[in-house]
Amino acid sequence: MNLTHDPVCCLQICKRIMPDDMSRPLIRERGEGARHLEDSVADPSAPVIGILGTGDFSRSLARRLVASGYQVVVGSRTPKIFVALFPEEVEVTTQLEAANKADLCFIAVYPEHHSTLVELKPALAGKTLVDVSNSLRINQNGPSNAELLADYFPESSVVKGFNTISAWMLQMGPRDGGRQVFLCSNSQKAKNTVKAICHRMGFIPIDMGLLSSSLEIENLPLYLFPSWRLPLLCTLFLFIFFYLYNFFRDVLQPYVMEGKKAFYKMPIEVVNVTLPSVALVMLALVYLPGVFAAILQLWSGTKYNRFPNWLDRWLTSRKQLGLCSFLCAVLHAVYSLCLPLRKSARFKLVNMAYKQVKAAVDDSWEDEEVWRMELYLSVGIMALGLLCLLAVTSLPSVANTINWREFSFIQPLNFCLFDVLQSTLGYCALFMATAHTLLYGWNRAFDLRQYRFNMPPTFVLVLVLPFLVLLSRLALCVPCAAGRLRKVRRGWERSRHIRFTLPAEGCHNGLEDVSDV
Ligand code: NAP
Repeated sequence: MNLTHDPVCCLQICKRIMPDDMSRPLIRERGEGARHLEDSVADPSAPVIGILGTGDFSRSLARRLVASGYQVVVGSRTPKIFVALFPEEVEVTTQLEAANKADLCFIAVYPEHHSTLVELKPALAGKTLVDVSNSLRINQNGPSNAELLADYFPESSVVKGFNTISAWMLQMGPRDGGRQVFLCSNSQKAKNTVKAICHRMGFIPIDMGLLSSSLEIENLPLYLFPSWRLPLLCTLFLFIFFYLYNFFRDVLQPYVMEGKKAFYKMPIEVVNVTLPSVALVMLALVYLPGVFAAILQLWSGTKYNRFPNWLDRWLTSRKQLGLCSFLCAVLHAVYSLCLPLRKSARFKLVNMAYKQVKAAVDDSWEDEEVWRMELYLSVGIMALGLLCLLAVTSLPSVANTINWREFSFIQPLNFCLFDVLQSTLGYCALFMATAHTLLYGWNRAFDLRQYRFNMPPTFVLVLVLPFLVLLSRLALCVPCAAGRLRKVRRGWERSRHIRFTLPAEGCHNGLEDVSDV
């Protein structure tokens, strides 16, 4: 008999190998509904951790701490009511008893209730208090909750931390959520103890310095996409601009001039011409600040001058600008694929076929038009592929697996040493997207009928910025500019570069000697 395929036999073998594990229930009850945590044995050398409060955060934290081998004591105003909600390894008692027993205490109550804990001051004196609280609103002026807590408990060492970790994340464990825990405190010893706890729970502590940083840590979970505001506004503005432009040209002009009703184009056709326009302009905007930065560095002859604020902000928003461009490009691809599904498209197709049959025309095959379409689609697909690659490598987990040189080859970086390879892939994507638009326009830029309402075709407007970027980039590749730029980026400065002429006898054939100081 094949033992491995007999479930009864397998079970018996397993029981013989792991008698304890098999006989012990995975979940044990305490009172009603409490759970036993798998294999948690408290480490007697580890500090006893106290938690004040029995809310969501407290329960998740208690479970994680017990699972990490800590002895946990929870302090509640009404311990009897909440005892059933905690694992049986956790002692749930009064606030005073918990404060007395604990070596270190997490304050898991809302900041407006911190003042109700002052009667525990003697019991908590000399101990570390971890403030996990968050505020409701961004607080720019301070004081922070942690600083106020430190005022209530001057004899304890307050550490700010864990406020960026949600109760859910704590329960799932660090593998499922953010792993960084930002910590700050005026006591290095207290901070080190909390760091050790973080490590043991599987989190990565990030030292943010003194307690004065607590305001910044408390504001962290309250920001709403701070680095995305500018790129999103830019995308929205461009979208509205190009949509209206296309609407005037493709919908309003035929209606006003010829009485043709083309309003059905508004949801798909007009959007589908708008999206690639936004995508290409946004992609050009990713590389344009790099060109400005290079020109500024060449102009000032040093890399140590600060860029103007607007350029600084622009440079730091390039990743988000690129991702917005990628989103528009993907949407354009999806819209384009859906174009033939529309009733209006099918109607036009049938109409055209009917006209051809009727006229028995056989010369509808236009070689130039066929080639244009083939190239247009192929280049567009390539551009989208390159944009996908750029978007994927902007993910931190992917970026971490490639080295600095590889990253600078892919992503737009201005300040690296590998100027020649710098963001080559990005420029390829920009070139492909520009070529895609050029192929779309073909010779229509020279057709006067396309200038409806005296407005040039959309692709003519769209191409201005990418052309500017690509030509500037080419100009910066000219050896004299590229060489000077490379020198500047390696730390060479024009103002510290002194020219002197050697005395006649030391003169090398009368040439000037030039030296860096
Ligand atoms: P919660 O579920 O409302 O629990 C708050 C606990 O505070 C209550 O269970 C209560 O426990 C205790 N408490 C002590 N003194 C109190 C008083 N005078 N009035 C009212 N309650 C009092 O809140 P939570 O979600 O656990 O959040 C607790 C703290 O963690 C907050 O500062 C919050 O900003 C922070 N935090 C929470 C999360 C999260 O995901 N929930 C994430 C990060 C940070 P007893 O009745 O047993 O005393």
